[in-house]
Amino acid sequence: MQSLQNSYRKFLGVSFLLFLCSIIGYGQSISSVHRKAILVDTHNDCLSGQVLEGKDISALLSTGHSDYVRWKRGGVDIQFFSVFTGETPRRKEGFYHDALEEIDSLNRIILRHPDKFDFATGYKEARKKVHKNRVVAMIGVEGGHMIESDLSKLDSLIAKGMSYLTLTWNNSHDWATSAMDESGAGKILSTKGLSDFGKEVVKRLNEAGVIVDLSHVGEKTFYDALEVTTKPVLLTHSSVWSLCPVFRNAKDQQIQAMAKNGGVICINFYPAFISKKFVAAKKYWEGPGKDSIRASLQQLPAYHNQSALLSKQVANLVQQELSKSLPDVKEVVDHIDYVVKLVGVDHVGIGADYDGIGFVPKGLEDVSAYPQITAELKRRGYSNKSLKKILGGNVLRVIKANRS
Ligand SMILES: [Zn+2]
Repeated sequence: MQSLQNSYRKFLGVSFLLFLCSIIGYGQSISSVHRKAILVDTHNDCLSGQVLEGKDISALLSTGHSDYVRWKRGGVDIQFFSVFTGETPRRKEGFYHDALEEIDSLNRIILRHPDKFDFATGYKEARKKVHKNRVVAMIGVEGGHMIESDLSKLDSLIAKGMSYLTLTWNNSHDWATSAMDESGAGKILSTKGLSDFGKEVVKRLNEAGVIVDLSHVGEKTFYDALEVTTKPVLLTHSSVWSLCPVFRNAKDQQIQAMAKNGGVICINFYPAFISKKFVAAKKYWEGPGKDSIRASLQQLPAYHNQSALLSKQVANLVQQELSKSLPDVKEVVDHIDYVVKLVGVDHVGIGADYDGIGFVPKGLEDVSAYPQITAELKRRGYSNKSLKKILGGNVLRVIKANRS
């Protein structure tokens, strides 16, 4: 009896060990695929979100989504830094000046930390500089308004190393209309699409090897640009409209047209572009839900004549409620899966929009979390070859086709 018990215990011990090994082995295989792939993220807002606020992204930060340490934990090789200024310029000198200021801020980081960052403007250069200890930085200018309708300013941004230009941000301007305005969520437009000058801009970008980015643009601008461009385009940070119907996402027909052009849609992680449930929760908790929280707190003596304290507490509680509806990694990967099923594995990538989004999905809290995407794709049966394409190979193909 004693020996039977011993054998049983041994059997349990060995089984547990085998189980542990299989878990570790599985983890290692995911990690090695992830590390071997060249990971490219096509959109990050840390220049306007963190660097201009005085944060040092060369060291581990306790705020924001991005810094050198977390990029390397996430296995990031090439990061497009978004040069962004909104509808109103930060300084009186205007949009173009704002763009120059951000490009300078990136240059300073690279110059001060050559062991951590490098800079590239084209395919060969980027491939050559990919290094396990460095992040290769590329520049994406987000919003055609920054050229101030002046081709010489466009040329100057090209000379400073711009690798893509997003034709519009949420604001329409002289030569292109945005998704926000075209969809009726913003300003009323008298004309839609690309003007003749806008078509000149697209041609100039093609000549100069700068990628045309069609995230943020309205449908008319989207199709006008596809008609003019002779090179593959990117949607650097958009998700799938069929899964989450909001104006910033791409409809099936747009994704099919983009694939025909040889382009790539890079999935944005913003919960309000990923999950219908989150969109509905946001609408409620930022509207009537927020009003009812405020009304009930106002009854409490602690908030009498304390309007700043009251607003802060209302914002906290709204945040808490919204966090209950956040999507997870699986729902983000559903968007990748959807594109693959619609147009194949050659036309999807990652453009998380970290440091430009107020909420992040569960399990994808910052730039160190990209291995979770790889793990989920692997769980769904994606081959290593497909994983490499999704993680960066597809975007590299577009970079190469624009500027070898
Ligand atoms: Zn954006």
